Amino acid sequence: MKVKLLPSTFEKDGTPSRRQHLSCLVVNDSIAVDAGSLAMAATDEMRANLRDVVLTHAHLDHIAGLPLYIDDLFASLDSPVKVHALQEVIEIIERDVFNWSIFPRFSELQISSGRAMEYIPIEFDRKFVIKDVEFSLFGADHKVPSAGISITDDSGSIAITGDTATLDGLRDVLSKLQNVKAVLVECAFPNELSVIADNSHHMTPDILARQLDDIRPDCPVFVINIKPSYRDTVVGQLGDLRIQGLEVMAVGRDYFW
Ligand SMILES: [Zn+2]
Repeated sequence: MKVKLLPSTFEKDGTPSRRQHLSCLVVNDSIAVDAGSLAMAATDEMRANLRDVVLTHAHLDHIAGLPLYIDDLFASLDSPVKVHALQEVIEIIERDVFNWSIFPRFSELQISSGRAMEYIPIEFDRKFVIKDVEFSLFGADHKVPSAGISITDDSGSIAITGDTATLDGLRDVLSKLQNVKAVLVECAFPNELSVIADNSHHMTPDILARQLDDIRPDCPVFVINIKPSYRDTVVGQLGDLRIQGLEVMAVGRDYFW
């Protein structure tokens, strides 16, 4: 399984910035998990092949690139962009984003093979397959309807928490998955902003450490979705924890699991 955390912004020389404003992971160059920077950072190969997007939730940093991606491809689309998500998430983006005011309702616009965009409602703990890769949504603890995602192929499994205040859902899913290669966890805020983290249902390094101590995943743990303004502080505090196997996921790098 090949996984890449797409960049959100770029340095002056065009190399990916480590600052992660938006969240978008791409599996095997052809399936997106969230679409924050999908329109801005997808490669030509992704643009040619990627027609499936699995959403954890509807917050802007996780969907900002979705309307722009479909708009960008619209004239050349020969199959719909399929959005796989909880029914509540589908209703939010259809009502608040693809509503003709913010952006066109692509689920009503025709291309040669049907609609430009299709919604696939997904229930928790119900497995579904996209291009020989199996997905399942598990519970997250966030301010809005949200899910974590487990992903399994022939090589093994990974689990992605999405935005969450606890790892309760991850604990359950790890007890069921075989051959887990990696866990990707959020850690949005530094320790000194624990009140904001609590109020917005995110984690700090200290919260993450307590949660991991309960679970003790038997695989590497990669941190994603660090708020860009606090990146250096959070990375320093994560290092101070000295937890073996815990590292920050590099933006723009191909991981093979
Ligand atoms: Zn969120």
